[in-house]
Amino acid sequence: MLKGRSAIVTGSTSGIGLGIARALAAQGADVLLNGFGDAAEIEKLRASLAAEHGVRVVYGAADLTRPAEIERMVEQATRELGRVDILVNNAGIQHVAPVHEFPPERWDAIIAINLSAAFHGIRAALPRMLERNWGRIVNIASVHGLVASVDKSAYVAAKHGLVGLTKVVALETAKTGVTCNAICPGWVLTPLIQAQIDALAAREGLAPDAARRRFPAEKQPSQDFATIEQIAAAAVYLCSDSAAQIRGIALPVDGGWTAQ
Ligand code: NAD
Repeated sequence: MLKGRSAIVTGSTSGIGLGIARALAAQGADVLLNGFGDAAEIEKLRASLAAEHGVRVVYGAADLTRPAEIERMVEQATRELGRVDILVNNAGIQHVAPVHEFPPERWDAIIAINLSAAFHGIRAALPRMLERNWGRIVNIASVHGLVASVDKSAYVAAKHGLVGLTKVVALETAKTGVTCNAICPGWVLTPLIQAQIDALAAREGLAPDAARRRFPAEKQPSQDFATIEQIAAAAVYLCSDSAAQIRGIALPVDGGWTAQ
């Protein structure tokens, strides 16, 4: 379905981003992987994705807290893959603390990676999408782009901002072949969430399994995690031609969390 398209997926060395990169490659898209990690592991991942799906896969090491590196990453994808048709702004970090104890440098990092990086990526990639009159921008927000939880001030502010940015870009591109949408996952079992589960287990003296079960049960009526593959499938759908008139939505994949 996406043969001949090229995609950047930020934060795709792990978790949801890696799942989205895999799913786009499986649809025939060339992919630029981005994110931190062990260089040899990333190279193994890059080569295996390319071999498995017969697509070009390159790696861009941009640190998304640095706008100039984001611009260079878009240039790299344009140079090495020919163009950027799809931009998935996925990279994100978390820090949990009451607002009056929130370390200012963690606030700045979360706003930079979870919100501002999407602006810088869109700013760099959109002009050429508009020239070709085809593009898909998918922002991985969160249920925390729609509702709040305690101790997540920076994350909730950034994700609400990302949902707002999504709507503005969707309106500004509404008469074109470029769409911009957000996906709002509930709990998905990835390294980002595993860190929070480990903290809960340590705090309350729970066994790892009990802590893992407690997590979705607290917020998610389905009492189950959403899977990486389900989020990736939603992203692939938003990149399809069938989704051409879906513009500016914030799509929850959250087991009913935001229906309450
Ligand atoms: P993860 O920790 O598994 O992956 C995060 C990725 O971002 C990694 O590849 C990491 O290297 C990369 N990254 C972090 N800082 C970076 C930086 N400065 N520059 C470049 N790359 C950087 O996390 P995940 O759970 O897969 O989360 C992916 C996205 O989904 C995030 O935006 C997160 O907020 C969102 N999300 C996750 C959940 C969940 O339950 N896991 C729920 C809702 C939303």
